[in-house]
Amino acid sequence: MSDQNALHWERVRERLRAEFGEATFNTWLKGLTFVTVGGGRLTLGAGTRYAREYVLANYSDRLRGICREEWPTVLGLEIVVQNRPQVGQAVSPAIMRPRENNGGDVIMGSPLDPRYTFENFIVGPPNEFAHAAARRVAESQNTPYNPLFIYGGVGLGKTHLMHAIGWHLQRQRPDRKVVYLSSEQFFVRFVGALRNKDTMAFKQQFRAVDVLMVDDVQFLIGKESTQDEFYNTFNALADQNKQMIFTADKSPADLDKIDERLRSRLGWGLVADIHPSDYELRLGILQSKALTMGSSGQMPDKVLEFLAHRVTSNVRELEGALNRLLAHHNLVGRPITLEMAQDVLRDLLRASDRRVNIEDIQKRVAEHYNIRLADMSSPRRARAVARPRQVAMWLCKQLTPRSLPEIGRKFGGRDHTTVMHAVRKIDELRRTDKTLAEDLEMLRRMLES
Ligand code: ADP
Ligand code: MG
Repeated sequence: MSDQNALHWERVRERLRAEFGEATFNTWLKGLTFVTVGGGRLTLGAGTRYAREYVLANYSDRLRGICREEWPTVLGLEIVVQNRPQVGQAVSPAIMRPRENNGGDVIMGSPLDPRYTFENFIVGPPNEFAHAAARRVAESQNTPYNPLFIYGGVGLGKTHLMHAIGWHLQRQRPDRKVVYLSSEQFFVRFVGALRNKDTMAFKQQFRAVDVLMVDDVQFLIGKESTQDEFYNTFNALADQNKQMIFTADKSPADLDKIDERLRSRLGWGLVADIHPSDYELRLGILQSKALTMGSSGQMPDKVLEFLAHRVTSNVRELEGALNRLLAHHNLVGRPITLEMAQDVLRDLLRASDRRVNIEDIQKRVAEHYNIRLADMSSPRRARAVARPRQVAMWLCKQLTPRSLPEIGRKFGGRDHTTVMHAVRKIDELRRTDKTLAEDLEMLRRMLES
């Protein structure tokens, strides 16, 4: 690599570290290597396929944005897997420790992130159900729901909730062995065991675990060998009434390529979803973050409100935006103002401008329910038009940065309390009405594609 590229790459790494924080950086980003740049394309290397998939799923937008600032001619970003001889060493936090009694090793997972506690988790309508479920599991003496399965989109707080349960359990009952594994670690361990022809020991290790948490299990699905092992481990732990907690990006019912036995097992306990955040939740999270970072002094309310309005995709991106403003402020001493935020976050804001608008939503929903577009703003209250209208309002709240009064205005000048009522109503209905939940999901996908 040329000196120039080395310098660029070092700067990219520094910024990733500053924006995503030490824990995320060390787990996922530190292992990335520079491979080549040319022809408008930047190629990076990852140690394993999982690391690659994970980084692409969670960090590619920002990674690309930052790289583009260093190499302005780069249009595309590509990550290749660079096979390292020892798969088992690619994931550093996994440590094995001999167990004192009856043979076998106790599995050690990744450390829990100290920031991911219940105290630091802001609750609002989009996540209150998952939060309540997590609390119940954390505070219970037995295993009320086994497994607890939390699902939702990227960056909405699944890992945070899972770690919060882990912290709580460990604090209440230090004797319990709580193990947190990314699905990548599960996979790496399992491949290691296969290679050493030692799947017995693999199973044994899990026996000593009281609470097993596996994050992002969608990455395990589609691999027959690990699915089987996962299923067996699951059954062994379930038989012993040990608590299991899983997360994924979809509900068990929606996971593709999953063995039917495993699907039904995963849905056995309690399945709880996290929805995309709404404006109030985003603002709450920003305020609490600014406070814990001791930076609420430099962070005008106007800027926080601006961020909550404009950065709507997920909480991780929201935090990233906040960290970027602070990093700029600390590095060049520029005061944080609205103009400064607009300038520093240019790329992020541009991306969010491209997202869905209210007119698209009204049009799609009207088509879907076969009603006239004019009925979105008409005063008619018949259920046949009122319900689709509520659906459209709900989608506007989820998918656009518009406030309740703004949404109300576009629906024939309705009051913001009407919009709020619609949002609550749909939130309530979708929990029990499967058809409605599917409609919402489908409309969302169509609108976002
Ligand atoms: P996921 O696992 O769903 O992709 P994470 O749990 O990693 O998402 O969350 C992404 C970031 O957003 C984390 O830093 C997390 O602390 C933060 N976050 C998400 N939801 C909340 C919330 N309700 N309150 C506070 N922080 C949150
Ligand atoms: Mg996660």
